[in-house]
Amino acid sequence: MSVNRRELLSASALLLAGPALSLRLASARTAPAEPIVLCWNENPYGPSPAARAAVARSIAEGCRYPSDAEILDLEQAIARHEGTDPAHIVTGSGSGELLCALALLCAREGGSVIAAEPTYLELTDYAQGLGVATRFVPVDAGLRHDLPAMHAALTPATRAVYLCNPNNPTGTALPAGEIRAFIESLPLQVLAIVDEAYMDFATEADVRSVADLIDGEHPVVVLRTFSKLHGMAGMRMGYALTRPPLAQRLKQARMTTPNILAVRAARASLDDRSFLSGTRAKILASRARITAELERLKLRYAPPQGNFVFFDTGMPLALFTQRMKARGVLVGRRFPPYDSWCRITIGTEPEVKAFLAALRASVNA
Ligand code: PLP
Repeated sequence: MSVNRRELLSASALLLAGPALSLRLASARTAPAEPIVLCWNENPYGPSPAARAAVARSIAEGCRYPSDAEILDLEQAIARHEGTDPAHIVTGSGSGELLCALALLCAREGGSVIAAEPTYLELTDYAQGLGVATRFVPVDAGLRHDLPAMHAALTPATRAVYLCNPNNPTGTALPAGEIRAFIESLPLQVLAIVDEAYMDFATEADVRSVADLIDGEHPVVVLRTFSKLHGMAGMRMGYALTRPPLAQRLKQARMTTPNILAVRAARASLDDRSFLSGTRAKILASRARITAELERLKLRYAPPQGNFVFFDTGMPLALFTQRMKARGVLVGRRFPPYDSWCRITIGTEPEVKAFLAALRASVNA
C-alpha cells in the first residue's frame, strides 16, 4: 500500500484533532444530503454583497455598542428610502420585536386586538401572553382579509387592528385603496397596525405600501423588515413608521438595542439597489414557475404576493409533509382550518426545481 504526502498529512491532522473530529468527518462523508428548507419564508439570496462586506469589516467592533450617530444614520437612510422624516422611524431587532412592543403597549393601555385568521401570530401571541383579549376574523373565500367582517367585530373595547398585507401564510394582499378606506372607517381610538413584511414582492395592481397614512388623522403604524427582500432574517433588523408621539412610546417599549452588525449591514443593504432588484426578479420568476406548475397539476392556490405560495395539496398536510420530507424538502406547517394547504417558501432556483420535482412525485404517489 502506498500512502501519498497529502493523505499522510490529513491522517496526522485527524490524529491531532482527536476522535471527535475524526467521527464528525467520517459521518459527514456518509450523511445524506441536507434537506432543502422551504418552511420559514427566508430569502436565500441575501444578505447583499455590500451587507456582507459591512459585516466583515465590523467583526472586530463586536465588542462595541452601535453608536447613537450610526443608529441615527440608519434611521435617516430608512427615512429617505421611505420618503419621510427620521422622527417617524423606529428600528427594532426584527419587525417581530416591534410587533411585541406594540402588543405591550396594547396591554398597558388596555383594550382588545382584532386580527385575521390565519395570519402571522407574533403580535397576537405576545398580546395574549400579556392577557390582552384577541378576536380572530376568518379570511374571506378568496383567502383575503375580510375587512367588512373585521369592521363588524369592532367593539368599544377594541384597541388595535392588525392587518398583514401581504398576509402570511395565505400570501394574498389587499389594494392600498381598500386598506385606506378601512382605516378611515375606524374609530380614532383604534390603532391600525399594518405589517408590510412582504410588500416588496407585491405585483398586483394597487397593492402597495400605505406608509403615507401615518401622516393622516387616524393612528397608524406600518412595519417593514430587512428579513425578506434584503435576505437578512438571521441578522434581526426591522422598522416601524408612525407619528412621532407613538414612535417615542414604541421606542420605550422595545426590549433591546440593535446589534452593531445588523445596523451596518442594513445601512449597506439599503444602497445595494441593483442586488435587491435582481433578487426580487429571481424570486418573482420562481413564483410564476411554481404557480404555473400548480395550475398544470390542477392544485388550487391563493394568489401569491410574497416570497411564498399557499396551495391546496389535495391531501392531509401531514401526509404531504411526510412525502416531501422523504424527497428531501421541508415545507411549512399546518395553518388551521386549511388542513390540506401548504405554505412553500421560494428558495433558490435549484431549490425550486427540486421542490417542483418532489411536488410532482408527491401528488402522483
Ligand atoms: N411579519 C410577518 C408577516 C412575518 O411573516 C414575519 C416573519 O416571518 C415577521 C413580521 C417578522 O420578521 P422579522 O424577521 O423582521 O422579525
